[in-house]
Amino acid sequence: MRLRNVKGSREMIAANDYVIHEETTKKGCWRAVFGNDNPIYIEIGMGKGQFLTTLAMEHPDINYVGIEKYSSVLIRAIEKQEELKLPNLVFIRMEAEYITDVFAPGEVGEIYLNFSDPWPKDRHAKRRLTSKEFLHRYEQILVPEGKVIFKTDNRELFDFSVEQVPEAGWQMISCTYDLHEHGNPEGNVMTEYETKFVAEGNPICRLVITPAETAKQ
Ligand code: SAH
Repeated sequence: MRLRNVKGSREMIAANDYVIHEETTKKGCWRAVFGNDNPIYIEIGMGKGQFLTTLAMEHPDINYVGIEKYSSVLIRAIEKQEELKLPNLVFIRMEAEYITDVFAPGEVGEIYLNFSDPWPKDRHAKRRLTSKEFLHRYEQILVPEGKVIFKTDNRELFDFSVEQVPEAGWQMISCTYDLHEHGNPEGNVMTEYETKFVAEGNPICRLVITPAETAKQ
């Protein structure tokens, strides 16, 4: 994502009610954050938040947490939420590597990864959000039947991700190399990047995976 230094964004985020501060204190207490027992789904690397905001509007009975490391893009999602005031959507500005400090085992129902940074150099493979190192983190916070749903137009990153699934001891639920082959499939919510890449004619890949023990049940 191209970054602009949005002036004052850090200060605005620090004072915003839709941003969770001191997020590690919420571990194991997320039901109290939302004030209900609804499932919690998260998006890691949400950017400006079009995807998660749309889902939160469509599914008021699911709670959504958007995670983004850069203030300059997160601020766009916050501005939108300031208008919409959806009760089931909050944000955290953080680096995803520390996700297990923020959610307890079984606290997260689904994890969305959309157009994640490719980290093309081999020596940076562990930083890819679909690496086995990240999958091991995700299995520590997901419910037993939990899923990771990943979309990208980057074929190298997608092929790497497909390989990581058995390496991490996970199972493939579904895998497509051209999600939009017959138009936008029903129920697919487009992200900012997806809208742009589909318009450019790039095929979008998507996989849905689950920790192996779940798939065996
Ligand atoms: N999901 C959005 C944006 C994709 S760009 C869309 O599909 O339109 C990838 C985003 O992920 C960027 O905003 C980047 O800052 C964020 N990101 C990448 N790695 C991250 C990490 N380790 N932790 C938190 N956010 C991350």
